Amino acid sequence: MASLISSLTGAAPTVYDLVVVGSGFAGSMTTLNFLQECKKLGKTGRVALIEAGKDGERCGASRWTMAYLRLDKDNKFDDAWKDEMKLVSEGLADQDYCKKMEQEVPTTVQYLIDHGVQFNHHDEKNVLLEFNTNQHFVFPEGGGHAIINKLFENITKFDNVDVMWETMAEKLLTTEDGEVCGVQVRKSDGKLKKVHGKKVMLSCGGFEGNREMLGRYVGPRTEHLELIAPGLKYNTGRGLQMALEMGAATAGSMSGMHCELVDTRATKPDAVIWGHNYGIVVNEHCKRFYDEGKRHLFATFEMIALETWRDQNQKSYFVTDSVIMDHFRPGWVYDTTDQEPEQSDTIEGLASKLGIDPDELKKTVDDYNSAINDKPFDLMKLDGKATKGLSPNKTNWANPISKPPYYGYPMKAQLTFTYGGIKCDLNSRVLATNGAPIPNLYCAGELSGLFYNEYPPATSVLRSLTFGRIAGKDAAQAL
Ligand SMILES: Cc1cc2nc3c(=O)[nH]c(=O)nc-3n(C[C@H](O)[C@H](O)[C@H](O)COP(=O)(O)OP(=O)(O)OC[C@H]3O[C@@H](n4cnc5c(N)ncnc54)[C@H](O)[C@@H]3O)c2cc1C
Repeated sequence: MASLISSLTGAAPTVYDLVVVGSGFAGSMTTLNFLQECKKLGKTGRVALIEAGKDGERCGASRWTMAYLRLDKDNKFDDAWKDEMKLVSEGLADQDYCKKMEQEVPTTVQYLIDHGVQFNHHDEKNVLLEFNTNQHFVFPEGGGHAIINKLFENITKFDNVDVMWETMAEKLLTTEDGEVCGVQVRKSDGKLKKVHGKKVMLSCGGFEGNREMLGRYVGPRTEHLELIAPGLKYNTGRGLQMALEMGAATAGSMSGMHCELVDTRATKPDAVIWGHNYGIVVNEHCKRFYDEGKRHLFATFEMIALETWRDQNQKSYFVTDSVIMDHFRPGWVYDTTDQEPEQSDTIEGLASKLGIDPDELKKTVDDYNSAINDKPFDLMKLDGKATKGLSPNKTNWANPISKPPYYGYPMKAQLTFTYGGIKCDLNSRVLATNGAPIPNLYCAGELSGLFYNEYPPATSVLRSLTFGRIAGKDAAQAL
């Protein structure tokens, strides 16, 4: 409003101290920490928070996630994660960034608790976790949406913040010598406006919602990928483009993305079928195509989803028996979907319900059952209970599928987030390709690149919150 009045009266336009683009975990944490730090330092600290989505809408990723967090019972971050990152990225992931994250996460979690977020602590009894957290993980009561609501409750207590909904950032404004000084935005009436700021934070997510960029960076067949949650449509990669136009360096694999297998029949978003480890997964021709017991559940759920999308015509089917279902249900492993599994007293009957060939599925299950070694079945370790002579073999948890009723889910892969992003330093400042920080420009969350090849999960939420918090404080101190 102040800018509009100033343009009518000819007065100088409002210059915010910080312009934040995107109101997910990264943007909300930056905004609140900046406001608080400015108050502490006696600075004005005026903020414009720009958001493409509508007020009250669940835009972006943060408002949809359950937010599983790799934390132990004392809210300490998994100290083996940095090594896992090194392993799966073949040394490409920034180890200093991973170490900083490990150090800073407990402060982030305590900050959220101090701001009213409640956490559930879960000791997992059935699923072997690769996290070094003593079979423990944590998630917020009410999911990511509750975290954002608490942060917004605190943000809106400040009167020096303007939240601009239905406002899409399009371009960075710069001075002649390349210092960032605001953002050009497009309002819902289609008109362009300038929002001037001394510092700018880009925290507007990945490019899940941009088919052209998915095709360009990730490659063929991306048109067959649905989004796992509706809010992702707003993440159109504009932040990435804006930073690249400024000469920013990239980090993370530009062609990488994280997908998950969901129930094709579900009527809700994020209907993930987690437990591929504890049965077999076949393609539309009833053939197995992936070693379902290769590693822990969270270390393999992404890869089996990627193969379903890329190599199996987006169709796969999980098949198991009552030994497994009675053990795991009710529980999060198979109950994230809102549909009951298909069920039959025979494998052929189950195949008919799943819409695949009964004789072929029976043959696959029989071949699988007769190829299993006689090692004991132990869910709480990589038990070596494996098949021999199949292609591919199942290398752990190959329990026979022999006790009716038999159960199955039809599945497809959906896109959760893109890896590719901007390179930042440890204070979330955007780095140019020559290694120098681009003056006044910050970036955090999914838009900042980190992952290569595989995503060691339950970490994205914590990194968006943590590096958003760090950026907010740094920007206030640097004013
Ligand atoms: C269904 C689901 C489940 C997940 N589960 C987990 C989990 O269990 N654990 C975990 O660690 N991670 C999980 N993740 C990943 C995690 O939620 C995200 O990495 C994290 O929320 C990203 O936060 P962000 O602030 O970077 O982006 P977002 O939350 O996506 O926020 C970006 C915001 O920017 C806005 N925006 C986009 N472009 C513009 C623009 N040009 N101008 C203005 N505004 C713009 C968007 O509307 C959005 O509000 C999950 C993700 C999804 C979708």
